[in-house]
Amino acid sequence: MTAPKKARSRGDGRSFSGANGARGTLHAESEATNSSGKRKGWQDVRLPRNWRERLPLPVAYYPTRLELLTRANPSGWAQARCPFHEDGTASLSVQMNDQRGGWRCFAGCGAGDLVAFHMRATGKGFRDAVLDLVRGGA
Ligand SMILES: [Zn+2]
Repeated sequence: MTAPKKARSRGDGRSFSGANGARGTLHAESEATNSSGKRKGWQDVRLPRNWRERLPLPVAYYPTRLELLTRANPSGWAQARCPFHEDGTASLSVQMNDQRGGWRCFAGCGAGDLVAFHMRATGKGFRDAVLDLVRGGA
């Protein structure tokens, strides 16, 4: 008679270090209106619902931010010195006619829209950058 091999239960309780990074969503929540607590702390400021319409136009914004900005070509693109790297030439293209204000650096800094540009230029997060822009701050 052979003794059946007993499956040894392994008691090594592996501990999961639960690294669930809580990510903040960029969506502006449609907030429930409660008019009871009127507080005007600047930290409580929410994005206005129509913030995208209130962004400055590229023709108003980019000239205050960019050096060596050329005139836009017929399709609306202008060149400028890229502020995100040591740019000896004008590697940055910005779209002046479209309200989104797209930009692209041909030296590899990336691309984006006007909000992304402002985030990068100021180091601010999405919400703060948008608030900056709709307030006309630069
Ligand atoms: Zn660049």
